[in-house]
Amino acid sequence: MREGLLPEKNKKMDTKVIKIQAKGGALSSREEQALQEAGEVLRRGGLVAFPTETVYGLGGDALNPASSRKIYEAKGRPSDNPLIVHIARMEDLAPIVKEVPREARRIAEVFWPGPLTMILPKAPKVPYETTGGLETVAVRMPSHPVAQRLIIYGGGYVAAPSANLSGRPSPTAAKYVIEDMDGRINMIIDGGEGDIGLESTIVDLTVSPPQILRPGYITQEMLAQVLGQVSVDRTILEADSGQAPRAPGMKYRHYAPRGELTIISGSSEQVTAYINARTAQDRAAGHRVGVIGTDEVLTQYRADVIRSLGSRQDEDSIARHLYSILREFDDEKVTRIYSECFEATGLGQAIMNRLLKAAGHKLIALDGNREL
Ligand code: AMP
Ligand code: MG
Repeated sequence: MREGLLPEKNKKMDTKVIKIQAKGGALSSREEQALQEAGEVLRRGGLVAFPTETVYGLGGDALNPASSRKIYEAKGRPSDNPLIVHIARMEDLAPIVKEVPREARRIAEVFWPGPLTMILPKAPKVPYETTGGLETVAVRMPSHPVAQRLIIYGGGYVAAPSANLSGRPSPTAAKYVIEDMDGRINMIIDGGEGDIGLESTIVDLTVSPPQILRPGYITQEMLAQVLGQVSVDRTILEADSGQAPRAPGMKYRHYAPRGELTIISGSSEQVTAYINARTAQDRAAGHRVGVIGTDEVLTQYRADVIRSLGSRQDEDSIARHLYSILREFDDEKVTRIYSECFEATGLGQAIMNRLLKAAGHKLIALDGNREL
């Protein structure tokens, strides 16, 4: 867009972008200094977007109510949708929760630092602005070295939702953060692409048995191995059940691509043939059609924009590429999108949770099997 076309109010501040490579997990002294500076911005109540192993986070001081308010404003997010507090040291957990139950210690030992968030009763020092008015707090210890250093330099407690505008896919690379947040926050740390590409698993430890509120890279099976029984909120794969949401975030309309997305399940022959037939019809009707496929059958599709999530054998790749492909389709202005379907077991549970939400639960089962 030409300079001067942007209304002034959209560009509220200069956003500084810094690149940090953290080669092999180690920081150069220049990088260390840059992170100190970013930590200073957080301590002064500013906002810094940073890489984590899941997606980019939009960080502010979790113990400063004004910072949390700024996060909601920058994202355009409703302020009763609580934020996850990121820590970098195990000893920093106790001060922000009422108590650290045995289960929390056990899963922290196995999965922290890593893509797991736990919900616990909050201590008074955590402001309601951060917890969206709740008596509970969500806590995670990320494994990304840049995130860890920034948290320490920022004072130990960084509230960070995903660094996208509300209603857009979570950013998996700094360029997407810049797209959404330039002019709205103080600083963006470009640390390359995330490993995982989907948000953390959220497990609620205030109920018995513990319950997964959002599936992620740490699967139900992995948690059950440590905790014994673990339940899963049933709204994870179902369309709106009418039941009150347990995680406030679950009640908000999730990201939906600009094009109408439909998931097609069945054998790979059925799926490719059906998608090609629908594509031909849609194009005849003037639509621009996108396909979300996998390496194994990609050459068989005939559409305007065809993207692969990777090999079906490689669930990690599918998780890692989903959000960037959805963003690309918005840029490509496709009006109809068809996606292959995945088994909702293991990591597939998180993949299908995000895909179904993006599709508004539109799924066509060609083999008559609607069970996920
Ligand atoms: P995001 O920051 O975009 O990764 O979203 C954070 C998610 O964590 C939201 O869906 C919140 O609803 C959920 N969450 C954060 N804190 C709590 C809490 N105390 N209880 C339940 N869910 C929470
Ligand atoms: Mg988010």
